[in-house]
Amino acid sequence: MFQKILVPTDFSPSADAALDLARRAFPQARLSILHVQDVRAMGVPDLSTGGLAPVIPPVDVQQEIGQAERERLRALTLEGEEADMLVGDPVQGILKAARDLGVDLIVMGTHGRGGLAHLFLGSVTETVVRESPVPVLTIRHA
Ligand code: ATP
Ligand code: MN
Repeated sequence: MFQKILVPTDFSPSADAALDLARRAFPQARLSILHVQDVRAMGVPDLSTGGLAPVIPPVDVQQEIGQAERERLRALTLEGEEADMLVGDPVQGILKAARDLGVDLIVMGTHGRGGLAHLFLGSVTETVVRESPVPVLTIRHA
């Protein structure tokens, strides 16, 4: 039924659960694991508000983060699986990869590293579910 599956990961437990589910439920499918490096903004503690202030990291720091994420992605990928990395907005990256790779299913976590635990769905998953041309299977980390 499903032959090519995209599993987007932000390396969170929920994304790990999605990868595990995709492997076990669709052992005959080709898996593409995708990480989108989100360079738009990082949250740094803002002492004046007690919250997080958005900061764009400098290019050399972005490159170092990219290297580390590439390494994590490689460590996650099993033989016979494909791994890709994009830079930019996670939602747009996931939808573009889904189109370019011609996947027929996306399997992803309900939550990620941003993790406002009370929200039903993280914002990346919510938008992908709404805009994806192919079915999206979501899994919540137990
Ligand atoms: P928010 O980002 O809105 O604070 P969140 O981090 O809890 O919420 P999402 O970002 O929607 O939740 O993450 C849900 C799933 O989306 C993850 O389990 C993962 O499958 C996918 N995902 C999120 N960010 C990325 C990313 N940068 N690259 C690839 N996949 C991602
Ligand atoms: Mn997130």
